[in-house]
Amino acid sequence: MTATVTRITGSLAEAEPLRDAALYDLVRVGPRGLLGEIIRFSGPTATLQLFEDTTGLEVGAEVTSTGASLIARLGPGLLGSVLDGVGRPLAGLAEVSGDFIAAGATAPMLDVARRWTFRARVHAGDVVGPGDVLGDVEERPGFEHRILVPHGVSGTVESLASGTYTVDEPIGRLRDGAALWLAQRWPIRTPRPVARRLAADRPLVTGQRIFDLLFPIAEGGTIAVPGGFGTGKTIVEHSLAKYADADVVVFVGCGERGNEMAEVLHDFQALIDPRTGRSIMERTVLVVNTSNMPVVAREASVYLGLAIAEYFRDMGYRVAVMVDSLSRWAEALRDIAARLQEMPGEEGYPTYMASRLGALYERAGRAIALGAPERTGAVTLVCAVSPPGGDFSEPVTQASLRVAGGLWALDAQLARARQFPAVDWATSYSLYVDAVTPALAAASTPEWATLRRRVLSLLQRDAELREIASLLGADEMADRDRLVLVIAAMLREHLLGQNAFDRNDAMSPLTKTAALARLGLAGYDEADKRLVAGADLDDLPVAAFRRAYAELRRAAATEDGEPMAAVDRAIAALRGGS
Ligand code: ADP
Repeated sequence: MTATVTRITGSLAEAEPLRDAALYDLVRVGPRGLLGEIIRFSGPTATLQLFEDTTGLEVGAEVTSTGASLIARLGPGLLGSVLDGVGRPLAGLAEVSGDFIAAGATAPMLDVARRWTFRARVHAGDVVGPGDVLGDVEERPGFEHRILVPHGVSGTVESLASGTYTVDEPIGRLRDGAALWLAQRWPIRTPRPVARRLAADRPLVTGQRIFDLLFPIAEGGTIAVPGGFGTGKTIVEHSLAKYADADVVVFVGCGERGNEMAEVLHDFQALIDPRTGRSIMERTVLVVNTSNMPVVAREASVYLGLAIAEYFRDMGYRVAVMVDSLSRWAEALRDIAARLQEMPGEEGYPTYMASRLGALYERAGRAIALGAPERTGAVTLVCAVSPPGGDFSEPVTQASLRVAGGLWALDAQLARARQFPAVDWATSYSLYVDAVTPALAAASTPEWATLRRRVLSLLQRDAELREIASLLGADEMADRDRLVLVIAAMLREHLLGQNAFDRNDAMSPLTKTAALARLGLAGYDEADKRLVAGADLDDLPVAAFRRAYAELRRAAATEDGEPMAAVDRAIAALRGGS
């Protein structure tokens, strides 16, 4: 008996009888074959969540189950692709703002026409199991896409041959007859298993001074980035996607404006990865669900992004996932729950929102992958959160804070003062500081931990003094205190501040970050010494020093020695200028 639609409410529909299907199976609905997912059963009645516009769909339309859940097809060709939330590639890159996938379209996730050159690494007679590397494909110049034995598959290799293949042609088979392929399928809601989880104790260098110096993130770590409208969440996510030291970046644009996603595409294509000399898009997968696409597809898009990230992690790569924004994901959950008439929890979110959110964050981590040869990879997760009205006490921000390993809190007042990134250093934190400091120091300067501690304490002292100054007026303060105000203002502007739109400033290598911190503190020490010796603050060449400092900030990033030399020159200027 064919199943038919019995009820339609927005993007939800009921259908019966759907007895043989399973929860989360994909379905096709109506004459256009709209894509949907079974999200609830009650008796023979299934509730369907449709990923597409249901305009024109009628009661009585036929429903067929595909017998499979929302599945990603993972294989060569993912890098550089732009997918919608259910994994269909968006064709015309320039037109992301338009809704240009025809409803019911079944564009395959991977390019099925493209031929890849496969080099076999195992041979007939070898015994293989889940996660073992069968061989590789050079997906992009210098990027080895490792072809892994899928989960649940093992046996003795009957045949496996180097050669050129499409993702639809078998590359070999096992003795039991099972075919081997370049691509594999994975249900996106299920975390991909690993051999062993590892501590997140290596830094992911972001190229953003305030993060690397004050609130560092570890590979495999998780950070929540809450901020009200216009506080710079999107710019933070973009800067990380562009400059963070990851092998692969997955950017999930969840419910953001179409024109923003078009901008991302444009930007990423133009940007050159300094390590490879090639477009940054070549290491990037974009998953986009702009606000003009169906709400429910957003809920799936985050899982799709994570499944892709885990797949590259399993090859042994360091993957960074940016989600902008997780609030849109949670709102999608809320919408669906409301239509299902589930009991609402806090602010209308379903009661399981926090646990689902926790489960999402848990898919991040560093791990040893299944199979041989041994590979270590990581999925680092940075999620923007958009609390309505910038109020961090709302449920999605709170749920994020409970599970994330760090908080980069964006502050509306700082954004209004055009202090960008508008990170509130008083409330932000990172639980990875101790674990990653040795590696950051090794990559920059042995003083790294001292610089960090001293910058933070200067900022702290500055906050106290500014409070006093607001009561007394700065003129009434001692010179040594005024010096703190002057130097802290300089550090806020040029060390913590970073202009995403300035070619030299947008990305700061650790050595430049360290040089700026060191110069600021050295200038402070020198001036403070003079004040103690009886000098007058107004007689010190503070303005000249600030100029030298701003110049160093604007300078193109240089090799190790150079910023340090500039530091020494600036200090000499400070000394000489008395
Ligand atoms: P949100 O996503 O939080 O709404 P955006 O990321 O779109 O905010 O940022 C809003 C605006 O703030 C940007 O258009 C830009 O003008 C400014 N901005 C944010 N971060 C920076 C930065 N690092 N450098 C320069 N300008 C910035």
